[in-house]
Amino acid sequence: MIQPITDPAVLEGYLSDASNTRGRAEALFRPRDAEEVAEVLARAQAEGMPVTVTAQRTSTTGASVPEGGWLLSTERLNAVLAPDRAQGGVILGQYQDQVEAAGLFFPPDPTSRHECSLGAAIACNASGARSFRYGPTRPWVEELQLVTPTGQLLRATRSTPIPDGWPVPRWAEPAVKTAAGYAPADNLLDLAIGQEGTLFVITEARLRLIPLPGAVLSLIAYFPDLASTLRFVERARRGAQRPGHLPEPGALNPRAIEYYDHNALELVRARVPDTPALARAALFIEVEHEGEAPVEAWWEALEEEGALVEHTIVATDEGARRKLLAVRHAVPAGVNERVVHNGMPKVGTDFAVPDAALAEIMAAYEAVDMDKICFGHIGDNHLHLNLLPTDAAELGRARQIYRELALQAVALGGTVSAEHGIGKLKRALLAEMVGPEVLEDFRALKRAVDPGWVLGRGTMIAER
Ligand SMILES: Cc1cc2nc3c(=O)[nH]c(=O)nc-3n(C[C@H](O)[C@H](O)[C@H](O)COP(=O)(O)OP(=O)(O)OC[C@H]3O[C@@H](n4cnc5c(N)ncnc54)[C@H](O)[C@@H]3O)c2cc1C
Repeated sequence: MIQPITDPAVLEGYLSDASNTRGRAEALFRPRDAEEVAEVLARAQAEGMPVTVTAQRTSTTGASVPEGGWLLSTERLNAVLAPDRAQGGVILGQYQDQVEAAGLFFPPDPTSRHECSLGAAIACNASGARSFRYGPTRPWVEELQLVTPTGQLLRATRSTPIPDGWPVPRWAEPAVKTAAGYAPADNLLDLAIGQEGTLFVITEARLRLIPLPGAVLSLIAYFPDLASTLRFVERARRGAQRPGHLPEPGALNPRAIEYYDHNALELVRARVPDTPALARAALFIEVEHEGEAPVEAWWEALEEEGALVEHTIVATDEGARRKLLAVRHAVPAGVNERVVHNGMPKVGTDFAVPDAALAEIMAAYEAVDMDKICFGHIGDNHLHLNLLPTDAAELGRARQIYRELALQAVALGGTVSAEHGIGKLKRALLAEMVGPEVLEDFRALKRAVDPGWVLGRGTMIAER
């Protein structure tokens, strides 16, 4: 029988996540295998005891913060079982390093990959810069071992039907990168991806691996204005390999297109002083290639679209590589410094919109009248606009602006969360995005899988 830990000093380390919200819990379980996970969940279901799965607590949404009850940590489920098979608690980046040493590649690359777990990346359908080419975590998962909230062990592949009596919501998920709500899945595997630890505990995964790309060209290009930046984004993604699209001959075909706005460049200038004075935006780009790096094709395209070509940093030698890393590092580091200086939390967006709506949402972000820094995955129309309030009144205004922008993203056919998930902090936004009927369908599914509503209580949807 697995024993709980109830020492408050130990529990203390498990009560918050990267959202900086704090919860409470009565006991912690650290199971070593799926059978022990099943034992804890069966007991919790019988006693009506809430259970929150906790992994590395890098969630920015309060998803791993318990609202009472038990904590189930995946930290001891940390074995890599074969090159393509690992337990849920394995650190994603460590797993990827092992796989890459063997010449193989598991593409999902959340920025937090060296801090977060594989099981949570699957549970939250995490994404990263390379998702422009490779999509989110979902297509890279082939089989899961799951424990249901009633303590049943299941194996799920894309051929595993959804059990009878589980009413999977048939809803029109936005056709963008999204991590919001239950997937309208036609198989058990897809239902388990993106459920944020509310339907199943993921104890083990079999993953799809591909050969490690031969070489990757990285560059940072500077632009004099937003218009030329957006023109270049359109040009760079034309004919590129993206989920569901093969590359077209002659396409520039990047695997990542990342954006930095003029305020982000101010942060860069403080650390990299020769950042061009005329630059009002920058793009970080990665291109996989075999043989010679396609520098010339990129150079020509940049010149034609009006980039400040002579300032482009191409990481072909060690000095340029270091400079490029310094530019990239300067932005999150600078944002954190500002947050500490302000003594107020930042309010950061995670919305994505369809390609056709990129210019419109960018214009809305630009128009926000508050201290702000915008950067992120522009290839997927998925920007993180960070609002930086300096006092409580501004914080209130930032939250209001955030809500208005979320609704605008939804009206444009987008999502309220492209990668960070809903957790506890964005439940109201999810409700607005999907509407009352779909929300009720989500609840019906949750009740069918988890009659006592014990697993991940408070995450994604409220019980009523
Ligand atoms: C600096 C920073 C950068 C980030 N960058 C990105 C990014 O680029 N892309 C991105 O997508 N996210 C990003 N995130 C968010 C976060 O890292 C991801 O959501 C990650 O998947 C959470 O992993 P974790 O191990 O910390 O999970 P936790 O925070 O512990 O848990 C997250 C959720 O998953 C559930 N869960 C955890 N493990 C399991 C399991 N085995 N089975 C079922 N449910 C489980 C939990 O109950 C909880 O609901 C970032 C966070 C930070 C702090």
